[in-house]
Amino acid sequence: MGIVVQKYGGSSVADAESVKRVARRIVETKKAGNQVVVVVSAMGDTTDDLIDLANQVSPLPPARELDMLLTAGERISMAVLAMAIHDLGHEARSFTGSQAGVITDAEHGRAKIIDVTPGRIQAALAEGSIAIVAGFQGVSQTTKDITTLGRGGSDTTAVALAVALAADVCEIYSDVDGIFTADPRIEPRARKVPRISYEETLEMAAQGAKILHLRCVEYARRYDMPIHVRSSFSDKEGTWVTSAEKVQSENDSQENAMEAAIITGVAHDRSQAKITIVGVPDKPGEAAAIFRAVADAQINIDMIVQNVSAAATSLTDISFTLPRGEGQTAVTALARLQDSVGFAALQYDDSVGKVSIVGAGMSSSPGISARFFEALSDAGINIGMISTSEIRVSVVVAETQVEEAVRAAHAAFDLGSDEVEAVVYGGTGR
Ligand code: ASP
Ligand code: MG
Repeated sequence: MGIVVQKYGGSSVADAESVKRVARRIVETKKAGNQVVVVVSAMGDTTDDLIDLANQVSPLPPARELDMLLTAGERISMAVLAMAIHDLGHEARSFTGSQAGVITDAEHGRAKIIDVTPGRIQAALAEGSIAIVAGFQGVSQTTKDITTLGRGGSDTTAVALAVALAADVCEIYSDVDGIFTADPRIEPRARKVPRISYEETLEMAAQGAKILHLRCVEYARRYDMPIHVRSSFSDKEGTWVTSAEKVQSENDSQENAMEAAIITGVAHDRSQAKITIVGVPDKPGEAAAIFRAVADAQINIDMIVQNVSAAATSLTDISFTLPRGEGQTAVTALARLQDSVGFAALQYDDSVGKVSIVGAGMSSSPGISARFFEALSDAGINIGMISTSEIRVSVVVAETQVEEAVRAAHAAFDLGSDEVEAVVYGGTGR
């Protein structure tokens, strides 16, 4: 008997009716001869509501207590789902992250999983029960306190459990039919991607595509755990996230083997901001001092651009992008350096967005950047910054032009289908 891990997102268990629908789906998987472990997110917008509640009580809730509060959301889902399964005449037992053996470090709000010891889950399965696990939470190895893995962390719980249980597959259910060539809310002609590699998925997720939690994909890649992303509202085959070799061999074995697309998808991100440090003296150690200050403030930066210094002044400008939520912290940290580094001014711009094209095929085909930039230029879109990896080209544009840029890139690489394929069943995007 194979083990299947299924994860249901908040929009799939938003109310009692949805919980019952999901329960029927789980029972069917069990009846088909599988051992089933289910990971659930909090119902609908519960996590946001709990955060609002905390903020009404205290402007700065202690991280330990906030985690304790937020994990309650997933506990509600797991218990009601187990009840709904019982009602269908099947055994189901719910477990908190801690009971399921999800051991983390002690970083409240963004804890990392360091070990999974799923003894109680295995025992429940051995007794013929369905195991339901609360996503997004664990217990710290050192402090024994309850932790959360960061927003969207239930995906990571699911993959980590799938790995620990040596499951055949980790199925991730949301309110769309899989991973699309672009966000269907922006580009209605977006196509479902049948197969995609871990690496491409990582790039898409890191560049803002709200498909899977980034750490979940990193985890899946490390242990080669296939993920099947699909909708809980339909029975359609979704998107398979696997190793690049597997994608290649599946594509080759297709009847009318099409030439693999060079670009797999277009991702966009509206959560970024840009900081420019104007008039930095062009001498060794300046960039080091600037980025040390940003790093010490625990800020993750993304693109960096340094201009050639003007010959007359020997001064240069350095720009970088970072998450908008961390903009003020970064500006404060940098302002403190103004005298020691001796730069002229700081500029902060949070009306930017990022658009990226991702595809494993681009490393072996020339002209991809040119085609992308021409499409943007034809649409009258100015590029603020550019960065690339082996399988990605990203640009920063004005936030107001993000959607147009996505559509322009999508069309330039012929990603659109003739019919509308994407159905958005829920509405939260998760
Ligand atoms: N309920 C948590 C959140 O909304 C975790 C999750 O949905 O994966 O962030
Ligand atoms: Mg959620």
